[in-house]
Amino acid sequence: MGGLKINTDGSSSLKNLFGAGEVCGGVHGANRLGGNALADTQVFGKISGESASNAAKTTELKTNEEQVLKEASRIESIIKKGTIKPQEFKNKIKSLMWEKVAIVRDEETLNEALKELLEMQKELETLDVGSQKQYNSDLVTALEVINMVEICILVVKSAIIRRESRGAHFRSDFPESKDEWKKSIVLNKNKIEFEAR
Ligand SMILES: Cc1cc2nc3c(=O)[nH]c(=O)nc-3n(C[C@H](O)[C@H](O)[C@H](O)COP(=O)(O)OP(=O)(O)OC[C@H]3O[C@@H](n4cnc5c(N)ncnc54)[C@H](O)[C@@H]3O)c2cc1C
Repeated sequence: MGGLKINTDGSSSLKNLFGAGEVCGGVHGANRLGGNALADTQVFGKISGESASNAAKTTELKTNEEQVLKEASRIESIIKKGTIKPQEFKNKIKSLMWEKVAIVRDEETLNEALKELLEMQKELETLDVGSQKQYNSDLVTALEVINMVEICILVVKSAIIRRESRGAHFRSDFPESKDEWKKSIVLNKNKIEFEAR
């Protein structure tokens, strides 16, 4: 079950970013027993929450003005007249992932999905986001879909790389589990690594 890679204290490779629950990968191995997700949220919620609290006590809080301005201008650039509403775009991503990246997948459909997602990444420029100041749900959804496309690309790339079946990942073209694949795929922005389990 994929997701953000965390250490046993809930920390990640990005300083002061902690994770718990559904967003994290590796806690359950290739699949999880029914009911274990609830236990995961409680166990890692406590561990990561305490770690984050301890980190906050020892971290000097200072605002990086430049970073704030950069993020503000990124968000402002998303607000513009376009041709597709963010909610419609979100539905498109969900349908694609359901149709081509469900539990049973194969190389051909995964490659098709990757191609479509890379196209979609370019189409993000055409999002139609209104400029209202109060409760701009277009903007909230737009920010979400930008992240969704990126995460989906990582999910599909990992599924293409793993040429075997294991847990909730069933490759109809590689239906067996293979010993050589007893490892995790760790995707970074610039590199792919394999980690023994
Ligand atoms: C249909 C279904 C059935 C399930 N059945 C079971 C079961 O029987 N037993 C079991 O143990 N588990 C079950 N699970 C899994 C379990 O529900 C989840 O693992 C668990 O709810 C995850 O909790 P979470 O707090 O980690 O994440 P979530 O519940 O997904 O919470 C994340 C929250 O963050 C918010 N958020 C996202 N992005 C941002 C942002 N940028 N800024 C601010 N907020 C943000 C979201 O709106 C959401 O409220 C089921 C899941 C599904 C979908």
